[in-house]
Amino acid sequence: MPKDRMERDNPGGPLLSMVIPVYEEQDNLPELYRRLCVVTNELLCDVEFVFINDGSRDRTPEILEEFARTDPRLRLVSLSRNFGHQAAVTAGLEAAHGQAIVVLDGDLQDPPEVIPQLLERWREGFDVVYAVRTKRKENIFKRAGYFLFYRVLKLISDTPMPLDTGDFCLMDRRVVDVMNAMPERARFVRGLRAYAGFRQIGLTYERDARYAGVPKYTFRRLVALALEGVVNFSTVPLRAVGWLAMVLLMLAVLAATVEVGLVMAGVSVAAVWLITTLLVFLGGLQIGAIAVVGEYVAKIFAEVKQRPTYILEEEAVASRVASRLTSSV
Ligand code: UDP
Ligand code: MG
Repeated sequence: MPKDRMERDNPGGPLLSMVIPVYEEQDNLPELYRRLCVVTNELLCDVEFVFINDGSRDRTPEILEEFARTDPRLRLVSLSRNFGHQAAVTAGLEAAHGQAIVVLDGDLQDPPEVIPQLLERWREGFDVVYAVRTKRKENIFKRAGYFLFYRVLKLISDTPMPLDTGDFCLMDRRVVDVMNAMPERARFVRGLRAYAGFRQIGLTYERDARYAGVPKYTFRRLVALALEGVVNFSTVPLRAVGWLAMVLLMLAVLAATVEVGLVMAGVSVAAVWLITTLLVFLGGLQIGAIAVVGEYVAKIFAEVKQRPTYILEEEAVASRVASRLTSSV
């Protein structure tokens, strides 16, 4: 950690930020705050809680303001309406000042008691400590959906993606700086985190059930999130269209060759076969043309996202780790 950055961000010493997006979590907030206080009291470090109120219409903002009145560690970021979880996390990462930043949900599915272990790995020199779920306490369909999604994404993603890992994690300031500097609007936060690189490690934990209230991610929103992940981090679906065109064209050429051979050998070929071959050929050609256009669209998409081509490691690891150890975190 460069000294000037530490001083600019936090003149009083090292700081741990908790970024917590909340959307209508009035029944979870008191228990969440209580458990966060217990955990952070034992950490013996400066802490700031960055709560992002994502356009809640329940008592969430009042409860947060109540906490903030007595606790100067609380910082409230209020969005003008409900922009969604990923947008809320993004707002929180931009607002956080910490040298280390933890992202966790506001429904207690990410147990705050895991945070000391995340910090421990950070002090050892890891830049991203992401929490890996060993167990989920949700219904079988949701569990199967998540299971499949993470495996498919890992398989087809252009960026190495860890399995069974959501947004619950601890990140070093330099990782968050890199993510904040990525200008793309559609934020699949766990993907951007993977793209940022540096030293990343998983830490297993048991994901709890929601403490109170109902999930704010509806089925439709979960599908949208999954699509966001695939479209933003993989060109495989597009390539698959190209491969389909190739297969169709090859089939048509093969069939045409056989048919011409048969005709030349004096065997009559039914017109329906000739027409079918022509249709397959034309179909292949059209899908191929779409795939070619798609390749260019993908190139434009990649350019528009303006992700850095590479990210520098910057400083020597030894000095950076030393700065974490000398801190009271
Ligand atoms: N959330 C949010 N905005 C939304 C939806 C969810 O800030 O539009 C918050 C929510 O309050 C919670 C976290 O994001 O703290 C995860 O949401 P949820 O528990 O509904 O998702 P799930 O755990 O079912 O994936
Ligand atoms: Mg949840």
